[in-house]
Amino acid sequence: MSKKAIIFDLDNTIYSVHSIGDKLFATLFQLIIESGKHDNDIDAIKDDIMRKPFQVVAAHYSFSDELTQKGIDLLKNLTYRGPIKPFSDYQEVKHLPAEKFLVTTGFLKLQQSKIERMGIEKDFKEIHIVDPATSGKTKKDVFADVLKRNKYNFSEVLVVGDDPHSEIKAAKELGIEAVLYDKNNYQPATTSVKKIVDFKELRVFF
Ligand SMILES: [Mg+2]
Repeated sequence: MSKKAIIFDLDNTIYSVHSIGDKLFATLFQLIIESGKHDNDIDAIKDDIMRKPFQVVAAHYSFSDELTQKGIDLLKNLTYRGPIKPFSDYQEVKHLPAEKFLVTTGFLKLQQSKIERMGIEKDFKEIHIVDPATSGKTKKDVFADVLKRNKYNFSEVLVVGDDPHSEIKAAKELGIEAVLYDKNNYQPATTSVKKIVDFKELRVFF
């Protein structure tokens, strides 16, 4: 069945966090290094921070409560003012004959600033920022709400994102079809979901 709506993730789906990450997170990385407790894992931590919500990374590497809170305080007030470009195949997304929704997890101001810098607001019917620092809502809650309010059947919607543990999992739990956008082959072990490396491949859903 042809899809009526697509729900996109933002980070590493619309653009590459690595393209801005070293600059954007410089003060956060400095804070973690200065804590003196994560020297051995610092490269893996940096990589994870560019791919997962900070709270998930902090828990995974057992950051102290103090370091976690300092990181959250820093990220709460962080915005991005530099250049930022969507992936080159993003142009393809604009031409897909479906309503588009953007649902992203992260700090409100930071996510807003990146969306503004890319100028992509107009490409989406609705934009939702799930901020774990201020709300217990999850992507799954937001997906369910988008479907209900817009009166879509589960089979009419597609979820596209890069994280098997976030939007892909939420979609599956709700019974929505999902596609893993794995541009840089970060998830070679994931075989339980259809994978694409270019948005052109979404044409088969119409
Ligand atoms: Mg993502």
